[in-house]
Amino acid sequence: MVLSPSHRRILLSNPEFDGKELRFIHEAFELGHIATMGSFITEFEARLEERVGGGSIIALNSGTSAIHLALLLLGVGKEDEVICQTLTFAASANPIVYLGAQPIFVDSEKETWNICPNLLEETILDRISRGKLPKAIITVNLFGMPAKMTELMEVANRYGIPVLEDAAESLGSRINKQYCGTFGDIGIYSFNGNKVITTGGGGAIITSNVKWSKKARHLATQAKDNYPHYEHSSIGYNYKMNNLAAGIGLAQLDCLDVLIRKRRNNFNTYKAELGNLPGISFLSEPDGYFSNRWLTTIMVDEAESGYGKEALRLALEDNNIESRPVWKPMHLQPIYSSAPYYGGHTAGQIFERGLCLPSSSTLTKEEVDRVIGCFHKQYEKVYR
Ligand SMILES: *Cc1c(COP(=O)(O)O)cnc(C)c1O
Repeated sequence: MVLSPSHRRILLSNPEFDGKELRFIHEAFELGHIATMGSFITEFEARLEERVGGGSIIALNSGTSAIHLALLLLGVGKEDEVICQTLTFAASANPIVYLGAQPIFVDSEKETWNICPNLLEETILDRISRGKLPKAIITVNLFGMPAKMTELMEVANRYGIPVLEDAAESLGSRINKQYCGTFGDIGIYSFNGNKVITTGGGGAIITSNVKWSKKARHLATQAKDNYPHYEHSSIGYNYKMNNLAAGIGLAQLDCLDVLIRKRRNNFNTYKAELGNLPGISFLSEPDGYFSNRWLTTIMVDEAESGYGKEALRLALEDNNIESRPVWKPMHLQPIYSSAPYYGGHTAGQIFERGLCLPSSSTLTKEEVDRVIGCFHKQYEKVYR
């Protein structure tokens, strides 16, 4: 059965292609450069470096492997403690466990939904008083909104703890003129299919530390020492991006500004049309902050609106529209229930009330109107 546009499924976050991707793929095949050798990889790295500034890029096969490698570069190992924002996707935290280290989760502040600088400092002090200086801090720029990176770096620097900035969702976001990913000692990006730009699957490390960028390249390509035979003096990984993915990335990177503009337009339309409904609120950008608005998220206050975020989600689902609760905090996840947690209920409440709306750059006006129409119908049901 073919669904008419008014019934076709609307997804949370689709990739958008402009056709140049296929030209790069054809060229890669013609040259026979479809694996981890090829000019698209170095070109993609150089173009991304130019775009965000602030360090060298190492293109990898996922954001998760980028986090794993970055933690290795920071020297994280068995029994170390790593502080991590609790309100995030599991891939921010899981690599801590890959390395046999202990995650310590910290709550968010309400302005950006990211890790709270004051709580971060309290956590560090408490961990020190218990006998361990945390080995690293993982901050996240959730849904594209930059964390309070200036304040966070100040706290981290005071204790000499390196920061890994998980910018998987925030490519192109910035505070004043500085791009997300470049605030931390190491930053990572993701080019998974649902992110602002995609390479099919991919990620990257960014760092201005030359020793680390060299080491990252070495470890990501099986740690082959410089001999005619395969000689290994450290454990390596197969984490490099392939040339086909990089070709897709080159085409996508060209469109980054357009794709961000469209996602920001989605946010602005939703806010204009829904911002006045009782109990619905949107996250604004603090002064000088620029979010790529990867996903538009709303908070639904049931006491004010008369319906919760789950009622809304189901109403959208009834109309074949995908929406999703915001990330469930790590300290509330079964896998991390025994990990230390610092903070209150901010992240927990954002999870309880937060809903991500369809945010693709491919959304048409009709599709946005369909989403908005569902809200108005729900609102009429409650207030009639
Ligand atoms: C997507 C995402 C990752 C993981 O990236 P992949 O490329 O999917 O491995 C890590 N952290 C956050 C916050 C993400 O949203």
